[in-house]
Amino acid sequence: MNYEDMLSDRVKVIKPSGIRKFFDLASQMEDVISLGVGEPDFTTPWAIREAAIYSIEKGRTFYTANQGLLELREEICRYYKRRFGVNYDPNDNCVVTVGGSEGIDIAIRAILNPGEEMIVLDPGYVAYTPGVELAGGIPIPIQLRHEDQFKLTPDLLKAAITPKTKAILINYPSNPTGGFMTKEDYERIVPIIKESGIIVLSDEIYAELSYEEEFCSIASFDEIKDQVIVVSGFSKAYAMTGWRLGYTLANKVLTKAMNKIHQYIIMSAPSPAQYGAIEGLKHCEDEVLKMRDSYRTRRNFLVKTFNEMGLETFKPQGAFYVFPCIKSTGLTSDEFCEKLLDDQKVACVPGTAFGPAGEGFIRVSYAYSIEELKVATIKIKQFIDKL
Ligand code: PMP
Repeated sequence: MNYEDMLSDRVKVIKPSGIRKFFDLASQMEDVISLGVGEPDFTTPWAIREAAIYSIEKGRTFYTANQGLLELREEICRYYKRRFGVNYDPNDNCVVTVGGSEGIDIAIRAILNPGEEMIVLDPGYVAYTPGVELAGGIPIPIQLRHEDQFKLTPDLLKAAITPKTKAILINYPSNPTGGFMTKEDYERIVPIIKESGIIVLSDEIYAELSYEEEFCSIASFDEIKDQVIVVSGFSKAYAMTGWRLGYTLANKVLTKAMNKIHQYIIMSAPSPAQYGAIEGLKHCEDEVLKMRDSYRTRRNFLVKTFNEMGLETFKPQGAFYVFPCIKSTGLTSDEFCEKLLDDQKVACVPGTAFGPAGEGFIRVSYAYSIEELKVATIKIKQFIDKL
């Protein structure tokens, strides 16, 4: 039996992740310094771990409400109000999910019919296009521009919207570019979104990692708030990747629809993680700020160092990635990363892993200690100097 024939067409269509392909190469080598992974190097704050341990000691090991513990939803809504000025109701507007990943999946599946178009940003996080394809939708990429620091501009947005467009998926601060949308940037695109009536799925998982300006949530624009589904989570700001906890915030109808999918495929997010997250939202703001300061120092170091070695790198205002332009080397992104790995045992991710518009760039994560970043950049400089 050829089991390939047994696979669903939707699964067959999906391409393997470009990041995985590259890390399979790296994993076959010894002593590789990786700047490839988008995962905080910090341990989850102790107060969160303690609260989760306590919940297990007390035997709070059962399913929670499908939507998540009410206390956690209350804290999430308080947090969005306190930090970003957006009002949500814990019962009507919030679902606690298994990471932002599940949030993205249930949001897409709640709104897309087969054949409907969803705009995705290129370069963009690797899960978006497959997420749309798995829902039977058609991903329509917008190729963002380096000269705009990979922001979504009104001309690009207008050109991409067609009568078939159901939604757009945006992610600022961005993985992989570190691109950022200010309030003024959003003010330019909000009227287009309002007029078109499309849904905006806004992945705000890096909101807390904003280094210059305050993060602005697109949901804070009252005139389109009901069109917006916010997806976020605890992985990045609270260094909780393995806990698998995130959430969605949206209007009542969309929340009900997402919760319907969630209750059948998940039941409820892990309960110890939910107890930990309540503690995180209540008492760990200082720790989040400390991590952010550390990321900012690393970012400043990398931007300066890459520009000094001749790789043009704009200063990303958020997330924990820099996106140096490697066009001056005459190599493609893939060639650059493969040769760098071969020559210096340093792993970065080719920009093309995030879409064709990533050609000519590499993604470098600074979720690594400054010592590691120093060693890696010395090696990258040696590689460039030899070219
Ligand atoms: N969105 C973006 C942009 C990400 O970078 C990630 C993690 N790499 C996620 C969502 C998913 O995060 P999680 O499922 O751990 O919350």
